[in-house]
Amino acid sequence: MTSWVTSANGDTDFPIENLPYGVFDDGAGPRMGVAIGAFVLDVGKVEHGLDAALFAEPAWNAVMAAGPAIWAALRERLTALLSDETYRTAVEPHLVALEKVALLMPFRVSEYTDFYAGRHHAFNVGTMFRGAENALPPNWLSIPIGYNGRASSVVVSGTPVRRPWGQIKRPEDELPRFAPSARFDLELEMAAIVGQLSDGMVSVAEADAMIFGYVLLNDWSARDIQAWEYQPLGPFLSKNFASTISPWIVTMEALAPFRAPFSHPAEDPQPLPYLSSADNSAQGGLDIHLEALIETPKMRDAKAAPARFTQTNYRHAYWTAAQMVAHHTVNGCNLQPGDLLGTGTLSGPTLDQACALIELTTGGKNPIQLPNGESRTWLEDGDTIILRGWCEKPGAARIGFGECVGTVLPTP
Ligand code: MN
Repeated sequence: MTSWVTSANGDTDFPIENLPYGVFDDGAGPRMGVAIGAFVLDVGKVEHGLDAALFAEPAWNAVMAAGPAIWAALRERLTALLSDETYRTAVEPHLVALEKVALLMPFRVSEYTDFYAGRHHAFNVGTMFRGAENALPPNWLSIPIGYNGRASSVVVSGTPVRRPWGQIKRPEDELPRFAPSARFDLELEMAAIVGQLSDGMVSVAEADAMIFGYVLLNDWSARDIQAWEYQPLGPFLSKNFASTISPWIVTMEALAPFRAPFSHPAEDPQPLPYLSSADNSAQGGLDIHLEALIETPKMRDAKAAPARFTQTNYRHAYWTAAQMVAHHTVNGCNLQPGDLLGTGTLSGPTLDQACALIELTTGGKNPIQLPNGESRTWLEDGDTIILRGWCEKPGAARIGFGECVGTVLPTP
């Protein structure tokens, strides 16, 4: 398919097959936008044929709550407006160059749950914290493990992140100290956005239709604070100071061509019936390429390109978002539009696909080497982490997520 927006037809994350949703500000106040090539469409200003109330507040929550029929109608209309030359005169004045806008939080995060569905990450980190024999907790292969994070500290790409202070007890210390985190880390994750209200148990089949779309997620982690605090109730202050998401919601409709079969290895316990469905097995997986890059202050000064230090794929996740929703609601817990479900760190099976420094450096023992001669064991002040994600396959247009960027600031 082609768009009359020529930049959408070349090398871009945002061809007409993508149409991701965000919130932008060009100086005239925050508005809802749709990315197309090198532009953002001011969607509230075009003839979309939908209730104007859906675009009254600069956040996508109202559209989410309106349900899948409205999601489909909006996408169909946007596709027509941006592909059919006859709409060009009416629509073109409402395109704003992406380079001239600030991208804001695309939706109000209602609640934030972070899961732990990366098997290789769970095994690698578990090995460091508890030894290889006890690396995966006994429940791990049966339950999509998660914890309740804080919605209030989810921030949009571009927001600086401050190194936290906290209580730290190293193995050689007799008592904990209060100090800045010296083991500051990233976690490369995806996050699914719940688009519908649930009240009561949701089946895996129903859950799939409740997911509105996905963003990239960097779950910043202070490993020294985490190691001391995490037992028995899991991560708390080591993670809830900031979690960064990418600014564009890539919808399930845009991701549809990249669905993939999903299964657990035959030798593993198979999911309980409430965690399985024929559709989830047939197409619960998503083939999304992911990578993380670092730009150190030295690279920035030298105007050198950021260095990629890992790449992976969302297909390595052990649980699908639909299974996470089914599990989350199995006890009657309600979900609402704008709930964010982090996947957990999506490390692949080999070390070069590990998605956190704690794995890449084997717990801080083997620094990673960067192309400019620098090395990193943990993140240093001034380091910028850039996450990218995209889908591509023969016969489909390549679509991308844009970037999820955060720079580490020193402790306050
Ligand atoms: Mn995480």
